[in-house]
Amino acid sequence: MTETVVSSALAPKDHREPSRLWHTFCDMNTVAKGPEFVVSRAEGVWLWDDSGDRFLDGTSSLWYCNVGHGRTEIADAVHRQMSTLDAYTVYNDFANVPAIELSERLAAHAPVVDPRVILTSGGGESIDTAAKLARRYWYALGRGDKTHLISRTAGYHGLNGFGTSMIGMNRFRTGFGEMVRDTSVVPHDSAAAVEEEILRVGPENVAAFFAEPVIGAGGVYAPERDYFTEVARICHQYDVLFVVDSVICGFARLGNWFGIERFGVSPDMIVFAKGVSSGYLPLGGVVVNGRVADPFWNQEGNPFVHGTTYAGHPTCCAAAMANLDILEREDLFTVSLEVERHLDSALRGLESHPLVGEVRSGVGVMGAVELTEEALTERGVTTAEVFAEARARGVVVRPIPDALLVSPPLIITWEQIDHLASTLYGALDAVAARH
Ligand code: PMP
Repeated sequence: MTETVVSSALAPKDHREPSRLWHTFCDMNTVAKGPEFVVSRAEGVWLWDDSGDRFLDGTSSLWYCNVGHGRTEIADAVHRQMSTLDAYTVYNDFANVPAIELSERLAAHAPVVDPRVILTSGGGESIDTAAKLARRYWYALGRGDKTHLISRTAGYHGLNGFGTSMIGMNRFRTGFGEMVRDTSVVPHDSAAAVEEEILRVGPENVAAFFAEPVIGAGGVYAPERDYFTEVARICHQYDVLFVVDSVICGFARLGNWFGIERFGVSPDMIVFAKGVSSGYLPLGGVVVNGRVADPFWNQEGNPFVHGTTYAGHPTCCAAAMANLDILEREDLFTVSLEVERHLDSALRGLESHPLVGEVRSGVGVMGAVELTEEALTERGVTTAEVFAEARARGVVVRPIPDALLVSPPLIITWEQIDHLASTLYGALDAVAARH
C-alpha cells in the first residue's frame, strides 16, 4: 500500500525530473542527470523501488540494518513510546526510562571495566564525543598537553570535525581547510607503527588511539593476529587511551555485542551506532570505562561540557531496545558466525574472476571484492560500473574506489548469499565484456 502511495506521487522513473534532494557523499552533477533510485518499501533483505522492482539489500542500507527490514515489533515499540513520551532531553538531571534501560543493557554487555554510557544520534557524533572526552580526561588530570589523536590508514570515523580529521583516507579531507590539529594516521596493519608514532609525538602529548575492530568503509581489513593485544599493551604502557570504533562491527556483525570481544581486549571507550537500532531510528553513543569517567563522576565542579539535543531520545532508545530484543531472541550473535562463513566461501568464488584481484572476508558479515590494478587502470573499469550493473540485475552492493563492499543483514539465507555472489559475478562479466 505504501508502494502505491509513493508511486502515485511521482512520475514514472524514466520521465522524472531529479528532485531537490542533495544526496550524501555523491557527485550531484552525475546523480542529478538521471532518475534517482527511489526506495519505496523494504522487507527482510529485500528492497522495492517505486516501479515495484525488487533488489537484494547486500549492504544493510549503509551497514546498519542488522536485523533486516520491516520488523513490525520495532515499529510497534516506537509507536508505544511516542504515544507515552515522544522525546525529552537528558540534560542536567533529566532522564527517561528507555535511555536508562538501554544504557544499563549496553553496559551489561560491553567488554569495558565499570562502564558508563553516553548517548548521541549517530556514529560521527559519537566519535567527536570520544575524541573530546579523551582530551578533556587528560586535562582533568592536569595533563592538558595530551591532546594528540592517532588513527589508522583506511580507518573511517564519520565526517564530523574530529572524525574528518582522523579519517585514514585523504580524499575525505580535501578542500575543507585546516583540520583539527594534533592528529596523525599510522598504517593499519602494524602495531609497531602505533608505538613508533607515540614515541615520535612523545607519550606526554598523546591522548588516544582510535581503531575499528575490522576496518569497514575503508575496504574491509581484518587485523593481523595479536594486533589488538599488542596495541592495547602499547596504549597501556604509554598512558594512551584506547578507543574502539565499533560503529560497523557492533551488534552481532562480528558475532558479539561490540565486535572487539573477538580480539580479547578491553578498551577505554567503545563508540557504537548503526546496528544498535538497526537504523530504524538514528542512535549512537560511547561506552566509557570507569577510569575515564572517574574525574567527571567523582570530582566536584568538573563536568564534561559536551552533549547533543537528541542524546537519550526515548523513542530512539525504545527502537534500540526492541532491536536488541530481536538480536537476543533470534540469537543473531551465533547465526551471524554461520552467515560469516557462508558469505566468505561465496565471495571467495569471485576470486577466479579475471577482474578481481583480492577478496577480503571471513571476519564478520562483511566483505570486499577488490578489482585488479590492471582492470582499474589499463582497462579503465570502474567500481561504479560494476555497482550499477549489479543493481540493474537486482543486487545492491557498495562501490569504493577500488572495491565492491558487501555487508548484508544478518538474517540473510544461504540461497540469498549465493544469489548475491552469482549476480555480482554476472555483473563483473558484463562489465569485463565492455572493456
Ligand atoms: N565510524 C565508522 C566505523 C563508520 O563506519 C561510520 C559510518 N559509516 C561512522 C563512524 C560515522 O557514523 P555516522 O555516519 O552515523 O555519523
